[in-house]
Amino acid sequence: MGRTKKVGFAGKYGARYGKRARNMLLKIGAQKKHKCPECLKNSLKREASGVWFCDRCGIKVAGKAYKPA
Ligand SMILES: [Zn+2]
Repeated sequence: MGRTKKVGFAGKYGARYGKRARNMLLKIGAQKKHKCPECLKNSLKREASGVWFCDRCGIKVAGKAYKPA
């Protein structure tokens, strides 16, 4: 009984919502700039998942997927 309910909800809303939220997170994560640990300017951009690149001093920082460490 409980299982049927859960699957029905996920099929109707869960999957679609999850995909949208993930896309939004990716966009925001790619656009937002973060503080560089080297030059302390907000010029740290997400280059790839877990890799951050500073526009100013050119260093690469490994961090979490959406936030530099
Ligand atoms: Zn920098």
